[in-house]
Amino acid sequence: MPNKHLIKEFEKQIGRQNVMAEEADRQAYAYDSAVLDAVVPALVIRPTTTEELGQTVRLCHRHGLPLTVRGSGTNLSGGTIPSSTESVVIVTNALAEIIEINAQDMYGVVQPGVITANFAAAAAEKGLFYPPDPGSQTVSTIGGNVAENAGGLRGLKYGVTKDYVMGIEFFDAAGELVKSGSRTVKCATGFNLTDLMVGSEGLLGVYSQITLKLIPPPKAQQAMMAVFDSVEKASETVSAIIASQIIPCTLEFLDNFTIRTVEDFRQAGLPVDAEALLLIEVDGHPAEVEDDAAQIKELCTRQGATKIQMAQSAAEKDLIWQARRDALPALARLKPTTVLEDATVPRSKIPEMVKRINEIGKKYHITIGTFGHAGDGNLHPTILTDKRNHEEFSRVEQAIDEIFETALSLGGTLSGEHGIGLAKSKYLENETSRGTILYSRRLKKALDPKNILNPGKMIGEG
Ligand SMILES: Cc1cc2nc3c(=O)[nH]c(=O)nc-3n(C[C@H](O)[C@H](O)[C@H](O)COP(=O)(O)OP(=O)(O)OC[C@H]3O[C@@H](n4cnc5c(N)ncnc54)[C@H](O)[C@@H]3O)c2cc1C
Repeated sequence: MPNKHLIKEFEKQIGRQNVMAEEADRQAYAYDSAVLDAVVPALVIRPTTTEELGQTVRLCHRHGLPLTVRGSGTNLSGGTIPSSTESVVIVTNALAEIIEINAQDMYGVVQPGVITANFAAAAAEKGLFYPPDPGSQTVSTIGGNVAENAGGLRGLKYGVTKDYVMGIEFFDAAGELVKSGSRTVKCATGFNLTDLMVGSEGLLGVYSQITLKLIPPPKAQQAMMAVFDSVEKASETVSAIIASQIIPCTLEFLDNFTIRTVEDFRQAGLPVDAEALLLIEVDGHPAEVEDDAAQIKELCTRQGATKIQMAQSAAEKDLIWQARRDALPALARLKPTTVLEDATVPRSKIPEMVKRINEIGKKYHITIGTFGHAGDGNLHPTILTDKRNHEEFSRVEQAIDEIFETALSLGGTLSGEHGIGLAKSKYLENETSRGTILYSRRLKKALDPKNILNPGKMIGEG
């Protein structure tokens, strides 16, 4: 805990009500959604204006205090776990203003603490569409989404957060305001700092304002559910759909264990005997949607789907997507600890990856439910365990190591959307190279010589 003098200094600059030094407050910001050990910070600061945000960073810099910015703490990679008990956590939930939605030029400008779904709803009110839709969108913030380069169910057709970031204003490690990007469609001014900041996980700067691209909404949609009696057939269908050059907006996969668990949770009439389900949606111009849906239906039949259910109404469409949204909460009910992983492979390797995940589950005698964004090759093997059972948890850790080894051996990546943070930093060199880590550390050192911005995450300590 910092000394009383330091607390007074923060209180003087940021306001007493925005400086939290009590034990209970500090405990509340010691962990996030990753299954990692908590670290209680020294101080929690909640700036209410951009000026206060900059002032907080400047004070941390002056005193050499490590700082971790926190949106809603929903990240699954330990990105908001304080780096030490000397750390300051900066919470952005009071910086939640949607500054502008410009329908004519199709962009929005927000403060970092705006909740993703609130921004999408505000854009929709003006007849515009913000596609990135992480499963956590009703709680996660735009700042957190940008820092993790969050994806979502619509990533296959519409891309992920990085595809919508036009500009970022941020405070550097010393609290100097940096402006990058623009509100124009094209911008070739200066270094491309905007792209550097996307996915930077709080290591290179503290966002204060983000400009996001908006697009016209699709005029029509068609959702469907295809039932398969083998995982291979389902995953080969994913490859076949992609190869047919139809790009659905969403193409999700659920394995048998997940189907049964979801059905047990909601009794929505899912086919519990199915080995796998594909949940598919196409959108766009009505004629194109009709055509694409018919082609996908035919393709699924040809690939051996035992049943294809086309949503006939908004309610039926909701039911299909509810099944997918239920996957994580349904699985999470089964055991005290849920480890949601994020292994991603080239799409043609999905059948192999799903098979190998099941083998890993058997080898380590652990329960894994697999669902995910099949169209992106982004699978979420979800391990159900109890962290208090040390023997079992050590098997879980070995299984996780093997899942990532497998993903990399199949030409995949460590993270499709959840970032590296603390959780996966130990694997980073396996995907990249020693040189990549050293280069990234030099970059960090140049931009943050006192190493106060979220130290220890992603590239470790160097
Ligand atoms: C149930 C559930 C479902 C999920 N589904 C998805 C999904 O479908 N797709 C997906 O991509 N993720 C998903 N996630 C993970 C998580 O929601 C995302 O990573 C999200 O982007 C985190 O947002 P947040 O506001 O909670 O950020 P936090 O968790 O608070 O922070 C995430 C990172 O961003 C940094 N950060 C936050 N604000 C700033 C700022 N202003 N300046 C600089 N750095 C900042 C933090 O330091 C941290 O490193 C899910 C999580 C849960 C719990």
